[in-house]
Amino acid sequence: MSTSENLTAEEAALCEKVVSGELSFRKIEEETDKTTASKVRRAALEKMKDVEFDHLSNFTFDVEQVTKKNIENLIGAVQIPVGVAGVLKISGEYADGEYYLPLATTEGALVASVNRGCSVITKSGGATVRVFKNMMTRAPTFKLRNLEETKKFYDLISQPEMIEKIKAASDATTKHGKLLSVEPFVSGNNVHIRLGFDTKDAMGMNMITIASEAITKMITEETGVPCLTLSGNMCTDKKPSAVNAILGRGKTVVAEAKLNAAFIEKTLKCNAQAMFEVNYRKNLIGSLRAGSLGFNAHAANIVAALFIACGQDPAHVVEGSLTITEMDVTEDGDLLCSVTMPAVEVGTVGGGTSIATQRECLNLLGVAGSGEIPGHNALALSEIVAAAVLAGEISLVAAQAAGHLARAHARLGR
Ligand code: NAP
Repeated sequence: MSTSENLTAEEAALCEKVVSGELSFRKIEEETDKTTASKVRRAALEKMKDVEFDHLSNFTFDVEQVTKKNIENLIGAVQIPVGVAGVLKISGEYADGEYYLPLATTEGALVASVNRGCSVITKSGGATVRVFKNMMTRAPTFKLRNLEETKKFYDLISQPEMIEKIKAASDATTKHGKLLSVEPFVSGNNVHIRLGFDTKDAMGMNMITIASEAITKMITEETGVPCLTLSGNMCTDKKPSAVNAILGRGKTVVAEAKLNAAFIEKTLKCNAQAMFEVNYRKNLIGSLRAGSLGFNAHAANIVAALFIACGQDPAHVVEGSLTITEMDVTEDGDLLCSVTMPAVEVGTVGGGTSIATQRECLNLLGVAGSGEIPGHNALALSEIVAAAVLAGEISLVAAQAAGHLARAHARLGR
């Protein structure tokens, strides 16, 4: 039964007010509880647009919880199938063991492909993973009146006394967040200050936006220079950017696995040289020719599927796509494969991580919530993401080296 056919008298009256334009979607919550408000929105949309929401209304998450932190104007939930890939053996500094990966996707063959990569990596001894950098960034922009003032302001920002004041302003806003770096960039009469933070188990965008606001207020008080915008895009959040590819954002992670030459021939039906060739000419030369910022086969596929399953911000798939995939034939004829991910932005607290289904997926990986040592769960998750991406890259490059790409999709019916 559609929502609009199943209303109490009170709900029907609210629905009529919405349909007539007397009550906005946003204000329904002032008249009733959050669950009823979402029902009334659905019913009003059904009437206004002549549609039926028989499925959008089916969900199990806590309406009070998600409407507090995650969503406005709630009308329901879409369901994305979740598959499992693995087991994947990972030897990281934070993630160490055998993992089953929850992948939320509607792309047929993706889970099968990652699953094959996991099997190959695990049978080859596992993926070694290391985090090289851990720093979430926000970059407010200050507009100066002329070049002379710009240079003065730029120099002042890097003075040790100013850095101490910036740190104190940040510390006053967050218990877990720690300011790590203050890097000014100039363009004409603008100074973009790229602030870097360790955000522990949080992905950190809310945390450091609050900290950055306190910092900009302090800078304005000290210098008289107003902050033009809290986010001046040198951060860079959710856009493809060279600054993230070069300096990193969130966690900079590398995952590596060595595949035995004979094993490649037996299981992947190609050979190390052919995989090297595909990786070199496709992921490196082809991407270069295309002007791509990412040098990989489909890193974004795996990042998207893991992020959606695990309550991460899906817009950060953009940064995941900056991955560089390398495949080198070693002196003994084996294939050394790696992915370098400059910007893995993940958290195990905050954002969508506490919604029930997403929390279950994080639990499957053993990284839900705060780490025993704060920060270690998010670091472990970043290592798992990199190892999973490596599995996806190995599988797809091998499929192309063996000429199996179209065949695999056809076999799985897509
Ligand atoms: P959050 O939901 O704001 O949660 C982070 C908070 O959790 C921190 O304030 C921290 O408190 C607390 N916390 C408790 N245990 C912690 C631990 N072990 N490690 C770290 N923090 C801990 O999450 P967020 O990661 O900062 O922000 C994520 C959300 O921001 C996502 O929903 C994302 O979509 C959204 N987002 C926001 C912006 C923006 O500009 N605001 C931009 C992009 C995305 P203390 O601070 O007191 O330590």
